[in-house]
Amino acid sequence: MSDDIPLATRTLSPSLKPRRRTPMLLLGGGAVVVVGTAAALLFPRPIARLVTPPPLAGLDARLSSDGRLLGHFPYAEANDSDLISIGHGMLMHHDAADALSRMRRAADADGVDLRVLSAFRSIALQKQIFFDVKSERNQSALERAQVSAPPGFSEHSTGFAVDLGDGRRPDTDLSQSFDQTRAFRWLQEHANRFHFALSFPEGNEQGVSYEPWHWRFEGSAEALKTFDAAQRYQR
Ligand SMILES: [Zn+2]
Repeated sequence: MSDDIPLATRTLSPSLKPRRRTPMLLLGGGAVVVVGTAAALLFPRPIARLVTPPPLAGLDARLSSDGRLLGHFPYAEANDSDLISIGHGMLMHHDAADALSRMRRAADADGVDLRVLSAFRSIALQKQIFFDVKSERNQSALERAQVSAPPGFSEHSTGFAVDLGDGRRPDTDLSQSFDQTRAFRWLQEHANRFHFALSFPEGNEQGVSYEPWHWRFEGSAEALKTFDAAQRYQR
C-alpha cells in the first residue's frame, strides 16, 4: 500500500508552505535551454519547471535512465499563484480544482459521495511525510520509496493530483479495497469526462504499486506537459 499516511498529516498547514523556489536544473544546462525554449513557444503561460530533486541519501544512485526513482518520476512544485483553496485546508491547481468540483457535483447527482483526502502537497511536506513515516516503520529510504513517492517525485506537488475516497466507505480510504466501492466504479465510468485519469493502475508498466484512490488531472496543456513522460507508460 502506498501513500498511506495519516490523514492528519495530509492537510497543508500555512507554515509548511515553502517560500523558496528550487532552481531550475536538469541534465545539464543545454538541455534545459532547448526544452525551455520549445516549451515557451508552445505554452504562453509559464509551465511547471523541470527540476532535479534534492538528492536523498541512499536513493540518488537508483535513478533510472529516464529519471525515475523506483518508478516515480521527478516533479516540480506548482507555482503559488496557480494554487487555490478547495476547502478543508487543501489546495489544488485552479484548472484541476475547477474540474474536480464539477466532477464531484456530477457524482453527487448520481448518489455517489466523492471525498477529497489529499490534493497539493509541497515538496517540503512530502519530505516530512516520507521521512516521518519511514522512521515510524523502521524502513530504509529505499524500502519506503517502493511504496511511497519520495520528496521531489510526487504527483501531488504539481497541484494536479488528488486522492479520492468514498464518503460512505471511509474504511477503504487510501486502501486498495477502495476499488470495491461505488465511488471507484463511478470514477472508472465518468472520470475521463472531467479529464481525470488513474495514475497507477493495477500492474502498471511504470512500476508503482496500485493506487485506485490516486487520480491526476490531464485536461490542460500544462497538465499534459507535466505528465507527458508518465503517460508514455499508459499508451
Ligand atoms: Zn496520491
